[in-house]
Amino acid sequence: YYNENTILYLNGTYVKATEAKMDYYSQSLHYGYSVFEGIRSYKTVNGETSIFKPEEHFTRLKNSAEALNMPYTWTNQELIDASYEVLKRNNLQDAYIRPVVYAPANMSFVQNTESFIFIEVWPMLPFLGEKLLRVMTSSFQRPNPKGFKITAKAAGHYVNSILASQEAKANGFDEALLTDMLGFVAEGPGANMFYEKDGALLTPSLGNILPGITRATVFEIAEEMGIPVTEKQITSEELKQADAAFFCGTAAEVIGWESIDNVSFKKNWNDTISKKIKEAYAARVIEMEIHQTVEA
Ligand code: PMP
Repeated sequence: YYNENTILYLNGTYVKATEAKMDYYSQSLHYGYSVFEGIRSYKTVNGETSIFKPEEHFTRLKNSAEALNMPYTWTNQELIDASYEVLKRNNLQDAYIRPVVYAPANMSFVQNTESFIFIEVWPMLPFLGEKLLRVMTSSFQRPNPKGFKITAKAAGHYVNSILASQEAKANGFDEALLTDMLGFVAEGPGANMFYEKDGALLTPSLGNILPGITRATVFEIAEEMGIPVTEKQITSEELKQADAAFFCGTAAEVIGWESIDNVSFKKNWNDTISKKIKEAYAARVIEMEIHQTVEA
C-alpha cells in the first residue's frame, strides 16, 4: 500500500506516510468509531486522471459521519481537490482512494467536538477481476439495522465483513454472501449483489445493505440498456435458480459469480446480460463511449 516515498493528505497538509502520526488514544482506534470511503480513479481513454463519482462518495462520507454524530467540517470540493492532489503527488492515475474521518483522543463514549481526516491512495489497476467467483452463503449475517447505522460506512461494521470473508476463504470459496437478520440475501463483505433471471435483474432492496454507488451505476446502465431491475427481498432458494449473479462495488467493479454454495448458475457467463453490464461499467469508468443494447 505504501513505501517510504508515499504521500498522504492529513488535515490540510501533505505528509510522508511513514512520518504521519495518529493518536493512540483516538476513540476510533479503540472502538472502531470512524467512517471512511472507498473511491477509485482511472486513467481515462484521453489519458487524464478521473475520479469516478467523487461527489457521490464524499456526500456519503459526510452522511456516514453525521449518522455517527461525528463533526464534519469539509466541503466535497476541498476533499475532491485534495484527492486529485494526493494522486498527483504519488504519481498515480489508476488508484484506490481511501479517506478516513476519525475521532480525537477519547476513552469515553461522549460525543466529540472535532474530527480529523486523512486521505490515502494506493495503486489499483482496473478490471482485474475476470475470474468468476465461487460464493458461499456466510454463517454471519449483516449487522442488524436496529443496532447499527447500517447505511453509514463505519469502520466498526467491517469486523463483520472480515469475519465473513475469512470464513468463506477458510472453506475454500472466493467470497462470502451475507444475509440480513431475517435471512434474506443482503450483500457481500464489501460489495452489493444482483442476480439475473429471464433477461431481468434483481437486487436486494435498500434498508439492510450499504447503498452502493456502483449499485446505483448498475441501475443507470440497466436503464440505458432497457433491462428491467427489480428491488425485492431475495431468498437463498431463488438465488440458486438464477441464470447468473454478480457482485458490484468500487473495488470489485462488476464481477460475475460461478456458483453459490457450489450450485452453478444456469447460463454461461458469456451469454448473460450481466456480462454486458460488466462491460458497460468498465467503459463508463474510463469514459469510453459505447452503445450497447440487449434483445428483449
Ligand atoms: N456493501 C458494502 C458492505 C461495502 O463495503 C461496499 C463498498 N463500499 C459496497 C456494498 C459497495 O459500495 P460502492 O459501490 O459504493 O463501493
